[in-house]
Amino acid sequence: MRETDVLVVGTGIAGCAAALGAAREGADVLVVTKAEKPEDASSDWAQGGISTTGTDPETFTQDILDASAGTADEDAVDVLVENADEAVADVLVDTLGVDFDVEADTDEFDYTREAAHSEERILHVDASTGRHILRPFLNFLADHDSVEILEDTAALELVTHEGRVHGAMLDTETTGEPVYAGTTILATGGIGDLFERSTNPAGSTGDGIAMAALAGADVADMEFVQFHPTAYAGDDPFLLSEAIRGEGGLLRNGDGERFMPDYHADAELAPRDVVARAVQDEIDATGAVTLDVSTLEEPFDEAFPDLAAKCAERGVDWESGIPVAPCEHFLCGGVDVDHVGSTSLDRLYAVGECARTGVHGANRLASTSLLEGLVWGLRAGEDAVGVRPEAVEAPELLDRDPDLPERFAAEKFHRLRRTMDEYVGLRRTPDDLGRAQAVLRRLKGEVDAYVRTRTARDLYELRNASVTALLVARAAAENDESVGCHYVEQPAAADAD
Ligand SMILES: Cc1cc2nc3c(=O)[nH]c(=O)nc-3n(C[C@H](O)[C@H](O)[C@H](O)COP(=O)(O)OP(=O)(O)OC[C@H]3O[C@@H](n4cnc5c(N)ncnc54)[C@H](O)[C@@H]3O)c2cc1C
Repeated sequence: MRETDVLVVGTGIAGCAAALGAAREGADVLVVTKAEKPEDASSDWAQGGISTTGTDPETFTQDILDASAGTADEDAVDVLVENADEAVADVLVDTLGVDFDVEADTDEFDYTREAAHSEERILHVDASTGRHILRPFLNFLADHDSVEILEDTAALELVTHEGRVHGAMLDTETTGEPVYAGTTILATGGIGDLFERSTNPAGSTGDGIAMAALAGADVADMEFVQFHPTAYAGDDPFLLSEAIRGEGGLLRNGDGERFMPDYHADAELAPRDVVARAVQDEIDATGAVTLDVSTLEEPFDEAFPDLAAKCAERGVDWESGIPVAPCEHFLCGGVDVDHVGSTSLDRLYAVGECARTGVHGANRLASTSLLEGLVWGLRAGEDAVGVRPEAVEAPELLDRDPDLPERFAAEKFHRLRRTMDEYVGLRRTPDDLGRAQAVLRRLKGEVDAYVRTRTARDLYELRNASVTALLVARAAAENDESVGCHYVEQPAAADAD
């Protein structure tokens, strides 16, 4: 029987920060991740950077509130802003020694600016900041005496007893096995795999949200799915960071015309939801949108070498403009948590993208997600210590036979993603949301019939994806107000289209 003081599920920035916070308080920490390598987490893929408060915390607060269309929780934003600079300095600079870019010939940080930020306040390492944060973080934890990391190990479901969470069932080689924990911290990241086109790595199936919801935890703001305006439009999409527009990149339609000034006073630097819908409108009207990088002060391949390399891998000649289209990117909602990441269930925490802290409201400001994961991760880890594990009755996962009917998961995933793309995307209508729920309910029923008789990981991912997709579709259907990244066309407008 396996026990630990604190169980952390996930090794993105939020899980790493939670593990560090708990270990610093003297707890034994077991970290499990279904990732086989660091790049299986969005944190590793983060490009533009991590925000600091810049010259004025009040302006930063205002930018976050404005980007959220006034829907962010002001108390949560205060927690983020008050803790931002100390967390970055303490963990990223002093503990991990992250080599953020500096101004030429100085040791002053080279702060950059992204859409909807009113000043240059974002720390970065080229356009591959995430990798330069996450890898040292994982190495640091791997060397820590009271932290153990198990890779390629998925949490399948939570162990609960009388309303408390006592750990999780893990997929080991042939069986589901419980690990009992004083407290459990979910840090399982986003939901990109619920959509055909997403910037997220594979495996972003909303596991933590589904596991928490199935155990009875509250979730909130699930309709607020952010679609990034500028992902590469071809197969195998990748993100073209907002920093490119921050440095002067322009969007042009299929006729070669710049269009963003017609949509918003801030043009290319308008909030993400505004740019995403404008890009889609222009694609619909003119056949394509390209990101013109010839207007950057520095040549694109010098300012963004990693992105230039990605273009080259796909045969894209960036000098003649990079074809872009909106693409699922980030979930603002998730498991509802308080200011230390505590959920509505006793002894369960959630941090990072799987959690809803209220910081983002209906729309997230660029480069605040890594920061939110870092700040809430640390706070949750520190708060989660001091509870001894108790071995309670664990769920029985009956048959350990991992075989599923051939292509079962692949086919169901295909149906799920098609439904989400078609009905729960950038523009939604009440009818479409009703259709989505009907399809997803049926699909979940088909999947449930197999869960508990098999512990195959892809089956659990499918179960989690179908639960999370339903939560998104249901929340979207229940909110008929277009706000931030949730855009509903009411019947009259939809009919007129
Ligand atoms: C391409 C891209 C660029 C981005 N750029 C930026 C940026 O510049 N700045 C910014 O602030 N944000 C950026 N974001 C958003 C940001 O990277 C993510 O929101 C953030 O990193 C999420 O961190 P996390 O720790 O919550 O989750 P992740 O980093 O996604 O980590 C989730 C972890 O949970 C594990 N996991 C999931 N399910 C299970 C399970 N059942 N059992 C065990 N383990 C599990 C995964 O394997 C992974 O280790 C970007 C995102 C993408 C995709």
